[in-house]
Amino acid sequence: MNSLRFVARRAYSTAKPAVVPRITPGLIGAIGNTPLIRLNRVSEEVGSDILCKAEWMNPGGSVKDRAALFVVKDAEEKGLIRPGGTVVEGTAGNTGIGLAHVCRAKGYKCVIYMPNTQSQEKIDLLRMLGAEVHPVPAVAFDNPENYNHQARRHAESLENAVWTNQFDNIANRRAHIETTGPEIMAQTNGEVDGFVCATGTGGTLAGTARYLKEQKGDKVKVFLADPPGSVLYSYFTTGKFDREGGSITEGIGQGRITDNLDQDKDLIDGAFCIPDEESVHMLYRLLDEEGIYVGASSALNVVAAAKMAKQLGPGKKIVTILCDGAYRYQSRLFSRQWLESKKLLTAIPEHLQKYVVL
Ligand code: PMP
Repeated sequence: MNSLRFVARRAYSTAKPAVVPRITPGLIGAIGNTPLIRLNRVSEEVGSDILCKAEWMNPGGSVKDRAALFVVKDAEEKGLIRPGGTVVEGTAGNTGIGLAHVCRAKGYKCVIYMPNTQSQEKIDLLRMLGAEVHPVPAVAFDNPENYNHQARRHAESLENAVWTNQFDNIANRRAHIETTGPEIMAQTNGEVDGFVCATGTGGTLAGTARYLKEQKGDKVKVFLADPPGSVLYSYFTTGKFDREGGSITEGIGQGRITDNLDQDKDLIDGAFCIPDEESVHMLYRLLDEEGIYVGASSALNVVAAAKMAKQLGPGKKIVTILCDGAYRYQSRLFSRQWLESKKLLTAIPEHLQKYVVL
């Protein structure tokens, strides 16, 4: 008994963690540095490594924490906001959640305008994080009542307030030039052959593309992944702004070239349009095969990465983004009634329907 206890103690004393955890300066120091996860089954299927940045592991649960931190830091550096001020933003939800965390950590008030088509989970979470939330009718960008314009007007009506304007504020893209891109280069030892992701503001795609292309030139290919109903696939394949259909994916798709995307649109080598049926099937596959629980934009990105792998040929390393977790969409994506109403239940093979539990 005694000797056993001695052996156990010796083993503990020699154990070393592979990476020494840092002490972060508050919550915002915990944003970024997410793992790069190899999808084992999908990789085997396509003959290339499909590697995914696990962005749901950010404190606010999405890739948008990075942009939220950078737009607030940018406003501080430019003297646009002082202690006790208010950050106002128009967002489909994830940027708002990131901003709500960053604002609490830095002592700012947070006001969020969002289209009323977004999930209740996101609205509830924003309110729990202390943000003032205004769900407004989902109207096009050229309508003055669009959520972005309402956010701008709200900020203009207050003292010491800033509209962070994630779509056209290129501090958003800078977050990915300075963090996502370098992390991917370091995690792959520079051996990245392809990068693909969907865009909402375009910050993730443009910023990561910029950094990777600067490091590797044309040795890395960058593709856009788009849902139906967005104009970007049409723009990058034909130069025209056509759109067709719609999508259940939240937070992605775009009706215009945002300033963030405009900076680097020439770096995009190609584009895929991914139907909802394929995204939803992949969402359930990721859960079943890898234990990965992510939202529809992440699943869409993985479908696009597999298509890109087939296009580039075997033996490559393709990186994409798992933008957020499924937690914020579960009342929809795991509800039989909701899936049926969207005609998507049949996209899920019989053996995976055991996960449709709501
Ligand atoms: N996926 C989800 C779930 C999002 O909320 C967003 C941002 N709206 C994106 C992807 C796209 O990120 P970006 O704004 O950097 O293009």
